[in-house]
Amino acid sequence: MNYDIIIVGAGPAGLSFAQSLANTGLQIALIEKQSEQQLAAPEFDGRDIALTHLSVRILKELGIWERFEPDERPPIKEARVLDGTSPYCLNFDGKRDSIDALGFIVSNHVIRRALFDAVQTLDNVEILTDLSVTSVLANDSEASVVLSDGQTIQSRLVVAADSRFSETRRMMGIAASMHDFGRVCVVSRMQHEKPHDGIAFECFHYGRTLAVLPLTSHRSSIVVTAPMDQRASIMETDDTQFSSDIQERFDNRYGDMRLVSKRFAYPLVGVHAAKFCAKRFALIGDAAVGMHPVTAHGYNLGLSGQEILAKEIIDAAAQGRDIGATSLLQKYQNKHMRTTRPMFHGTNEIVKFFTDDRAPAKLARSIALRLANRIPPIKRVIRNKLTEISN
Ligand SMILES: Cc1cc2nc3c(=O)[nH]c(=O)nc-3n(C[C@H](O)[C@H](O)[C@H](O)COP(=O)(O)OP(=O)(O)OC[C@H]3O[C@@H](n4cnc5c(N)ncnc54)[C@H](O)[C@@H]3O)c2cc1C
Repeated sequence: MNYDIIIVGAGPAGLSFAQSLANTGLQIALIEKQSEQQLAAPEFDGRDIALTHLSVRILKELGIWERFEPDERPPIKEARVLDGTSPYCLNFDGKRDSIDALGFIVSNHVIRRALFDAVQTLDNVEILTDLSVTSVLANDSEASVVLSDGQTIQSRLVVAADSRFSETRRMMGIAASMHDFGRVCVVSRMQHEKPHDGIAFECFHYGRTLAVLPLTSHRSSIVVTAPMDQRASIMETDDTQFSSDIQERFDNRYGDMRLVSKRFAYPLVGVHAAKFCAKRFALIGDAAVGMHPVTAHGYNLGLSGQEILAKEIIDAAAQGRDIGATSLLQKYQNKHMRTTRPMFHGTNEIVKFFTDDRAPAKLARSIALRLANRIPPIKRVIRNKLTEISN
């Protein structure tokens, strides 16, 4: 079978990319190892994704944003960063800056469902489920992929969106730097007595980090980051104990807090591919760069990256050029890496800075938060990086 493009992985990145190529006439195969049923009704996986303004713009243009119900995309109106046991906070207030929202939170399974609903109606996209890729071969004129059921399919370009541990990336011999933080992120949802007023908290407590992200008015997403050896105790402690522990660590700001979902644990490993393309092959989403969640940029980068690649392909197709040409893929790589490299390394440095519990580091953090709060240009740069607001 022949296609123009084979996409490996129907996660948020692969689906967004397929949707970006809607109505182009390009014939696309989207290969996914999960079943069609899992794609159509993805289960809650604990991840509530903070989306930047740039991502909202892209999702609107893809016709996905309006598929979210208003209560599925609550705004972040204000963000507060705290360090250690101090009540002092670095504060980003949307209202003070005349911005309606610093960003929006949409659950990962809601994003996946909306994207799948849209992509499955596209005439030019065929979704092949319950299949994975066993080998990829590329030459000057085409790329071929062998699937787990034994069939071989051909295309002009293969795009891998098969997660940060991408097997396809490995098959193509693309190296990646991986940073194992030795930490785990446990995510869940809690109901609380007092409203959150749209405020997101990032509390860099010593030893553990606690993020509390606003969902509906008395419900928040809870993100606990701790050393890996604490995983079992955080996951296995009973619901009541877990709830009162979070309430206490959060200084009772929201009154009584109660766990209302399962807990999900994600080991934290950051990954950046050494290059984003090879012969008739490109990486997008986490397969290109898998971020530590502290700066909430993983899927945001996935969205902006796939948009860059899709635009290059659409231009090339319109001009009758080769959509798998090395020069096109390198253009994508250069543009996207200009954003991903500083964001990846900057995020890793932030994690190092905020998880160093030695006295000099504590002092440096306290000074850094105060400086950032008091020097408006610094504060604006940080805000714009985090929210992708361009003013
Ligand atoms: C706790 C947590 C919080 C996060 N918070 C944020 C946030 O606030 N903001 C943000 O922007 N990002 C956030 N992220 C990151 C975001 O979840 C990821 O960047 C995003 O899910 C990556 O999408 P993806 O499609 O690239 O990869 P994935 O979501 O990993 O999807 C990959 C897909 O490929 C399929 N697949 C894998 N291997 C194969 C194969 N061999 N063959 C066929 N199919 C295959 C998988 O089944 C899956 O469907 C967070 C991540 C975590 C863990």
